[in-house]
Amino acid sequence: MTDAQLLDLRLCDLPLKIVGTPLEMVIDRLYEELDARGLRFKPHVWLSEEWFTPDNVSGFAIPFYLAHPRLIKLERRQMLQVEGGSEKECLRLMRHETGHAIDNAFLLRRRLRYRELFGPFTRPYPDWYKPEPNSRNYVVHLPGWYAQAHPAEDFAETFAVWLAPGSRWRRRYEGWRAMRKLEYVTELMRELSKKAPRNKSRAHVERLREIKTTLREYYERKRRNYDFQWPPDYDRDLLRIFSPDARHKSSRSAVSFLRRYRREFCSVVAEGTGVHSYAIDQMFAAMINRCRDLNLRLGLREQHAKQKVIVLLTVQTMNGIHTGYHRIAL
Ligand SMILES: [Zn+2]
Repeated sequence: MTDAQLLDLRLCDLPLKIVGTPLEMVIDRLYEELDARGLRFKPHVWLSEEWFTPDNVSGFAIPFYLAHPRLIKLERRQMLQVEGGSEKECLRLMRHETGHAIDNAFLLRRRLRYRELFGPFTRPYPDWYKPEPNSRNYVVHLPGWYAQAHPAEDFAETFAVWLAPGSRWRRRYEGWRAMRKLEYVTELMRELSKKAPRNKSRAHVERLREIKTTLREYYERKRRNYDFQWPPDYDRDLLRIFSPDARHKSSRSAVSFLRRYRREFCSVVAEGTGVHSYAIDQMFAAMINRCRDLNLRLGLREQHAKQKVIVLLTVQTMNGIHTGYHRIAL
């Protein structure tokens, strides 16, 4: 099938299952990790649109595209990256979701010490959050300093760090305030190892076969989440790198320079900030248009200009938080 043919299909018509796929092996790895930590608890999993753990359910949804290599390819083409596309990243996300699932299964958020350390689970989710990259109150696990998004995320992230084999958290977080959270999770899990969950909901929420939208609609909506408007006051920043001045008229145009390094810039900034590559690429496309409007050319040596563009994109990404900090694995 071509991409265009594939995009016409509805999600509910995709003949996908977890059983017998590489995804199943990753889930088995997760279960082994839980066994190795002495936990009997095993979250159930199903395919849906995105990574998520519904409220009060002791399992989580995995995005459908991870169940088939052809769909992984499509996701990469449509979104420029695949969340959970490698086994390592997939396990990382699963550990996080398992944190939510175990929280639901044992109603951990009701405990006083949980509330003291992580904050109230019932706090409304913010539309966006401003992480403090230097904070030592939170573990660092998923991109975007995600533990800082909400108390429930803080717990899930702390649990994920605790669960990961070889994470050496005692050394890594020595002297951090986040250590108290990790020690609490250790104690809590020791206690839970022998207990049966209080909430045993095995519900599958928004399962794939109920989703009537086409892949085309799915990707249109997903990309809209990363739309970006170029703020006019950033022209100043562009003028520190590029120049409209006639004395640079024999230099390379800003548009050609930016196009040449587009991939490199996007992947460096996505990796450094934890923001989705698609969001950064949107910002980048706006930057290219703006340089064309202003008829800018390189005013610096290429190497120097490259560094400055990376800094500019990083700063903008950190300012334009709405681009994606809340989008991961709720
Ligand atoms: Zn989460």
